[in-house]
Amino acid sequence: YMAKRSGTGTATYRPEADSSSVARLTLIGDLRDAVPAGQLVLHYQPVIDLHSLTLVSTEALVRWQHPEHGLIMPDEFISLAALSGATRPMAHWVLREATRAAAEWQADGHAVGVAVNLSVRNLFDRDLLGVAEAALEASGLPPGDLVVELTESELMEDPSVALSQFEAFQALGVRTSVDDFGTGYSSLTYLRDLPLSELKVDRTFVGAMHQRGGAFTIVRSMIDMGHNLGLEVVAEGVEHADDVPTLARLGCDRAQGFHFARPMPHDRLRTWMDEVRESGITLPSRSA
Ligand code: C2E
Ligand code: MG
Ligand code: MG
Ligand code: MG
Repeated sequence: YMAKRSGTGTATYRPEADSSSVARLTLIGDLRDAVPAGQLVLHYQPVIDLHSLTLVSTEALVRWQHPEHGLIMPDEFISLAALSGATRPMAHWVLREATRAAAEWQADGHAVGVAVNLSVRNLFDRDLLGVAEAALEASGLPPGDLVVELTESELMEDPSVALSQFEAFQALGVRTSVDDFGTGYSSLTYLRDLPLSELKVDRTFVGAMHQRGGAFTIVRSMIDMGHNLGLEVVAEGVEHADDVPTLARLGCDRAQGFHFARPMPHDRLRTWMDEVRESGITLPSRSA
């Protein structure tokens, strides 16, 4: 099997890079049991409000704790989930787990919400909305503190189902977000008609912002366009301290990225939140 050193120092199993289709098939079979066997875990990445430099939300990112291969990242198994029938149970589990986690943080006095990622396939699941509603009710999390994200390219795979499902989520009071914006060729017409609350500028643009070239102008245009459409704008993949004041000056509302914090397990995020609360905010940008 191929293994790679990831940024966090853990060896990562990469079935997508594995030439053996037997390995892929075995993994598809394994994934069928992952939800019932309790092998999925959520890591949460802080989302920072750029106007106040405070923690306002988190993004829940799924990982698979495989009994033999260790922690597998979503890019390596989300596409396999469709083949193993796990897309639906996974989304249900993520909704329940993430709302429960956010409600716990709120009970600890942290005014923080949570965003979950959906696949376009999830939008065809007739139970999805009911599961979301039940998860909100069971956890006690206010609907406005939940965000559902769908990538721009997946939105464009079926704009009409995205439209009706996002309308239904908004009717529940849940916020809706277009993820990885700038990579999916959506038209302004679609964006205007979709019931969106938020736009997330893809990290490829944010990452290149301080370099020479057009990325700065592109980011600025995306922020202005988002605001003109009445959306909140989030910058993803903020890795450089210098980009924080720049984004704030451009009016970008929120940001997330390794500069602030990496995704982390529930327990470690709770500690991180406590530290941030104690010391005002100890964002790295202050010392950088
Ligand atoms: P995404 O929703 O765009 O999530 C952001 C990804 O960028 C995460 O990767 C995160 O760890 C990474 N990231 C955050 N800040 C930085 C940064 O400063 N620099 C760099 N280089 N990367 C950063 P991750 O966790 O590997 O997730 C990859 C993708 O997998 C997600 O992209 C999302 O599309 C998908 N995904 C994650 N969880 C779920 C889930 O529960 N369901 C579904 N359907 N998809 C999921
Ligand atoms: Mg996302
Ligand atoms: Mg994204
Ligand atoms: Mg992405």
